Amino acid sequence: MMLLLRGGRIIDPSQNLDAQMDLIIENGKIAKIGKNIHKPDNTSRKLASGEINILDLKGKVIVPGLVDMHTHLREPGFEYRETIQTGSVAAAAGGFTSVACMPNTNPVNDTRSVTEYIKRKAAACNLVNVYPIASISMGSEGAVMTEFRDLKDAGAAAFSDDGKPVTDSALMRRALEYASSLDMPIISHCEDTYLSAGGSMNEGFVSTELGLQGIPNIAEDAIIARDIIIADYTGTTLHIAHVSTAGAVRLIRDAKERGVKVTAETAPHYFTLTDEALRGFDTCAKVNPPLRTIEDVTAIREGLNDGTIDAIASDHAPHASTDKEVEFEYATFGMTGLETSLVLGLRLVDDSIITLNQLLLKMSTNPAKILNIPKGTLKIGADADITVIDLDNHWTVDRSGLRSKGKNTPFNGWAMKGKAIMTIMGGIIKHQDGVE
Ligand SMILES: [Zn+2]
Repeated sequence: MMLLLRGGRIIDPSQNLDAQMDLIIENGKIAKIGKNIHKPDNTSRKLASGEINILDLKGKVIVPGLVDMHTHLREPGFEYRETIQTGSVAAAAGGFTSVACMPNTNPVNDTRSVTEYIKRKAAACNLVNVYPIASISMGSEGAVMTEFRDLKDAGAAAFSDDGKPVTDSALMRRALEYASSLDMPIISHCEDTYLSAGGSMNEGFVSTELGLQGIPNIAEDAIIARDIIIADYTGTTLHIAHVSTAGAVRLIRDAKERGVKVTAETAPHYFTLTDEALRGFDTCAKVNPPLRTIEDVTAIREGLNDGTIDAIASDHAPHASTDKEVEFEYATFGMTGLETSLVLGLRLVDDSIITLNQLLLKMSTNPAKILNIPKGTLKIGADADITVIDLDNHWTVDRSGLRSKGKNTPFNGWAMKGKAIMTIMGGIIKHQDGVE
C-alpha cells in the first residue's frame, strides 16, 4: 500500500526543507518527495487500481513525527495516573510519534525485565514508538549503578535517575564514562536536594508573599555546573533535563562555547509561565523544577533562540486528582504536557521568539539526535513517521477532554491556535482529527 500526501507544506529541518510538495510513503518508509509527483501515468494506474491512498493536505504543514524525549507513562506501578495505553493515545493526539519514558515507575526501570515489559506493552498499543529510559542507579537510589549494557541490549534508549539527582559525583562520573562507551546518553535531573528540601515553589518575591517555602535557582544551577565540570573532564556527552533558570542557560551556553558536549532541554511551561501562576494556589502549576520568574522565562526563550537549549520536551507528569486536590505543600509535583506541548511551542513561533523550523528542530530532529534514534527526519528511506499540523486550528484546552488520565494542566481554558491533526507511524495513520 502506498500513501500519497498531496499539496502540503513540507518542513524538515534535517534537510533544510520548507516548500509545498507531495510526499509518497511506500512500505512504511518515505519513498519520494517532490513537486507534483502525483502526475506520472504510473501513479494514475495505481490510483485506478486502488493501490494508492491519497490525502489532500493543502494548507497543512507536514513535518517529521514529533519526538518527546522526556515523558512519564507511569506504568508499571502507577496505572491510576497513566498507562502506556492512555499515554500513547495522548502522545499521538499531541502530535508525537515517538516518546522516551522516564524510569521512575514502580518497580523502577532498573532491570531488563522492566524495560522489556514497557516495550512489549507499547508494541501492543502500537500508537507511538516508546523508548524506555532506564535508571542510572538501582531503584534510582543513587548508590549502585545499573547494568548499562544489559539494559541497552533490552532496548533502553538512555539512562536517567529523573525525579532525583545523582548526588554522588563519583557515580555520575562513572555513569558518564560507561554510557559514553556504549554510545548512550545520560540525562541529568539537576537538583541539589539539600537546597531544595521542603520547598514547593520558586524561592522569591511570590513565595514570600504566599508564605510558602521556596526552591532557589541555585538548587538547579549548582548541579548543572557540577555535571558540566564532570562531563568536561570525562570528555563525554551530557544531557540536562528541564532547564528552568537564567543561570542554567548561562552555564550551558558558556560550556558549549568551550566545547563541552552538553545538550539541554526545557519544557513548555518554563517558557510560558512564571511563579505568578501560583498565586491562586493552583496545584496543577506545581512542578519540579518550579516555575520561575519573568527574567528566567526571558533567558529560556533566548536560549531556545540561540541554540543553547536544543530540545523542548513535555515532561508530561500525569497525576490523579487525589495527588493534586490537597493542600499546596502536600500536592505532588508535575503537570500533564503531551497534548499541549506543540501548541505552546507554536505560541513562541507566533510571538517571533523562534521560527517554525527551529521549533521542529527542537521537537523532533534534535531530540532524535540526542537519543541517537533514527527519527526526526523525512529523508528518503527513513521510517514514515510524520505529523500533520494545522496552524490555523483554533481550540480551547478543556481538561476533561484530555486523552491522558492526568487532568492536571494549568492551561485549562486557554485559547490556542494550531493543532496536530494527524500522526503517521511507519506509514500507518495513528491519529486523525479534522482531516477529510
Ligand atoms: Zn526531572
